[in-house]
Amino acid sequence: MTLSVYNTLTRQKEPFAPGDPGRVTMYVCGPTVYSYPHIGNARPAVVFDVLARLLRRLYHLVYARNITDVDDKINAAAAAAGCPIGDISTRFTAAYHQDMRALGVLPPDVEPLATAHIGQMQAMIGRLLARGHAYVAEGHVLFRVRSFPGYGQLSRRDQRELLAGARVDVAPYKEDAGDFVLWKPSTPELPGWESPWGRGRPGWHIECSAMSAQHLGETIDIHGGGNDLIFPHHENELAQSTCAHDGATFSRYWMHNGFLNVDHAKMSKSIGNILLVRELLEQAPGEAVRLALLSAHYRQPLDWTAEVLAQSRRNLDRLYGTLRDVAGWEDEWPAAAPDAAFVAALEDDLNTPRALAALFDLSHAIRRSGDEGERRRLAAQLRASGELVGLLGAQPEAWFTGNPADGLDAAGVEQLLEARREARARRDFAEADRIRGELTAAGILIEDGPEGTRWRRAD
Ligand code: AMP
Ligand code: ZN
Repeated sequence: MTLSVYNTLTRQKEPFAPGDPGRVTMYVCGPTVYSYPHIGNARPAVVFDVLARLLRRLYHLVYARNITDVDDKINAAAAAAGCPIGDISTRFTAAYHQDMRALGVLPPDVEPLATAHIGQMQAMIGRLLARGHAYVAEGHVLFRVRSFPGYGQLSRRDQRELLAGARVDVAPYKEDAGDFVLWKPSTPELPGWESPWGRGRPGWHIECSAMSAQHLGETIDIHGGGNDLIFPHHENELAQSTCAHDGATFSRYWMHNGFLNVDHAKMSKSIGNILLVRELLEQAPGEAVRLALLSAHYRQPLDWTAEVLAQSRRNLDRLYGTLRDVAGWEDEWPAAAPDAAFVAALEDDLNTPRALAALFDLSHAIRRSGDEGERRRLAAQLRASGELVGLLGAQPEAWFTGNPADGLDAAGVEQLLEARREARARRDFAEADRIRGELTAAGILIEDGPEGTRWRRAD
């Protein structure tokens, strides 16, 4: 048990010492569900999935990752599509689940919905008002940044500068430009809930503070997310939670993944280089996408290119190839322990590049060894190591036969079936037939029955 993690709060790598080893708690900010997840959104999901798997080896873990299902981006998407807001959030929550499953991300223990915690958010806002950490102004409730001397500690920004805010378009009702919204009024066409401050909706930051307190308690062990969230989102969560809980530590460790760029550029709508997970799943198995995401250390930027993905796929071919060439390891692997060098690298602040190098060392050792017993033992160890990071879970034969270079893997089939279901639901039968044709061309036979659509590969 020598796990160490880099804590953004202290800017240091520290030994991980949870408050209660019998119940370790981790909260990771989840997606805002207004469109399909892109490969950048998948990075924190995969990184913290690996951390969750590692923690579960050592402790009893309660892992919460929320769904932000009330947000102005969702409102805008619903207005653009001319449908109710709930349709957008339901549809993209399902898409998120589907894509993350395809990447081998295990569901968190708790997946709270923001809209199911409005009462807890209002209660927390009430506590902040009662303690002088918030004020009401023109239907808004604002956090009084001036009231919390620790503001700026996480992002290491100067509080005076933060109080002054960006100085552009500052709402006149704010005491200080840097004060942020806890609650805001809704117009009749926007989603809103009755509150002591009028009909309105929560600000984004209060959602996570309220949901983590509800499910994990006032003090949590690890809070995670992408490093774009350090300021303002996590700085604001820290301020709200600390002040609402009378100074109790909000999170012992703060962990942030670096950003993912595509072909050296930041992903953006204007450049048109946003890579969706589902597009990548048409090009490669989910496991190859997962390995590519783990190929860089989580705190480093990751430059996504077609070559990174192709290389990951070749690497999996090598590892699965090694397993395929050893007979009889399957009976041994459930009892096998993962490779020690591999585990040590992961426990050193999730050093996945070093851990993966250890997997390749193991693979070489298997190939070099002439001793069948040793080969079996090491192969079982390779399989057990992969399991720890959500890799090498397929049958080696199936990896080679089930993933034809230009064919569809299971996730790809599921995606097409989902698209066909959606087409049929909107009575677009031409599109539904086109998708069926695409599946047939890829050798997938489908059968519609009372329990939905089943599929199998043609012999
Ligand atoms: P969002 O749905 O935009 O709130 O993002 C969900 C998660 O994805 C957050 O933890 C973000 O920090 C993270 N994220 C978004 N874009 C990227 C990116 N390009 N690289 C890495 N992480 C990202
Ligand atoms: Zn959050």
